Amino acid sequence: KYGDRINTGSLKKGQKVTKDKANRATVEQVLDPRTMRFLAKIINKGIISRINGCISTGKEANVYHGDHEDKSINDKEYAVKIYKTSILVFKDRERYVDGEFRFRNTKNQSNPRKMVKVWAEKEFRNLKRLYMGGIPCPEPVELRSHVLVMEYLTKGEAQPSPKLRDHAFKDTDDIVKFYYEMLFHMRRMFRECRLVHADLSEYNSIVHNDKLYIIDVSQSVEPEHPMALDFLRMDIKNVNDFFSRKKINVFPERLLFQYITE
Ligand code: ATP
Ligand code: MN
Repeated sequence: KYGDRINTGSLKKGQKVTKDKANRATVEQVLDPRTMRFLAKIINKGIISRINGCISTGKEANVYHGDHEDKSINDKEYAVKIYKTSILVFKDRERYVDGEFRFRNTKNQSNPRKMVKVWAEKEFRNLKRLYMGGIPCPEPVELRSHVLVMEYLTKGEAQPSPKLRDHAFKDTDDIVKFYYEMLFHMRRMFRECRLVHADLSEYNSIVHNDKLYIIDVSQSVEPEHPMALDFLRMDIKNVNDFFSRKKINVFPERLLFQYITE
């Protein structure tokens, strides 16, 4: 299943985060004392009571599995995405936040803690837009600073649903089905949700209940963003490259650009 259970596992509702626990958490890198305080708030709301383990360690964030021990309080499972505060990753993010009318607050740009909070908020708001717009994606649940809680897409028995990259396609029809689904979501995202994913690929989409789900939308931008259409062309290229490698005929990129934007 996951790696070893991490120490927040023993945190109960109403329980104080002790210094000892917080210090041990620092070993887990992202779970510094500040992060632990935000996690404690989420635990106090009764959404989850424990973190069971790490689903993914990425460059910008780690994703953990969380749930409530007492299923009579809450029987849902959650993905808890915790953004890293490291300065190294910000350089890359700037171009997504710059030029975004929604996040034009230059005061934040020099403070990594505030930046990471903006970044998490961006993902939370973008995820809400997709969810409300009917795009299959994890339901956004709670945001506390750089700690984002969303619905956990599971294959069952606490196994996360596979990325599109790892999906075992049944046959050619299955490949074509997922290709069309992806194109349909891209179009709907652009026209209905007014968002360009900007990091769309077989790694940021998940096959869940035989449907394609879109994840990882922290860098998504509105069509008005000066780079939006360049990001869209990049998304189209990534999607076409993946499905070409699966040996199906893909549409020309220019045609897809038209289909999505007009
Ligand atoms: P990376 O740098 O590896 O792309 P990231 O920081 O961009 O990671 P995400 O892409 O949002 O973070 O999530 C990382 C991985 O965690 C996903 O590829 C997926 O396997 C898993 N994951 C994320 N959210 C969920 C979810 N809601 N349900 C199930 N699995 C999830
Ligand atoms: Mn990702």
